[in-house]
Amino acid sequence: MIISFDLDDTLIPGMKQFPVEQKSIWQRIVSRECIREGTVRLMKRLRQDHHRLYVYTTSYRSPAYVRRLFLSYGVRLDKVINKSLHDKMLGKTAGSISKYPPAFNIDVHIDDSPGVAIEGTRHQFNTIIVAERDNDWTATVLKQIASFQTL
Ligand SMILES: [Mg+2]
Repeated sequence: MIISFDLDDTLIPGMKQFPVEQKSIWQRIVSRECIREGTVRLMKRLRQDHHRLYVYTTSYRSPAYVRRLFLSYGVRLDKVINKSLHDKMLGKTAGSISKYPPAFNIDVHIDDSPGVAIEGTRHQFNTIIVAERDNDWTATVLKQIASFQTL
């Protein structure tokens, strides 16, 4: 499957706060941003299971920067979709929906926003919503991915 991850408040703390992965000196040089604890193990596991990993963010972070950030943790991303690419791909409808994973052939999108889950129900795409206080969030994600695979 193609699995995409939101960044802000899902993998990168902002409004929402959660434990983050430890950073080496090298990672500090690459970026000041931290990623959520468990992200690296989860993504490596998903890769081993032959899934493709995308980041889908409504921010304007450059795809090259996002790739570099994850590569510094040893995780290769297959694609990064930012707001510019979203707008370009969706054209006129881009303003009426915050995210539309089917436009990028994404099977499951992981996000913190209940609004994205509502859009998923309305426009028929699969979402997994991660809670700020879910300390076992990677298990939550793996369980739900498994349930989508048996559909
Ligand atoms: Mg978010």
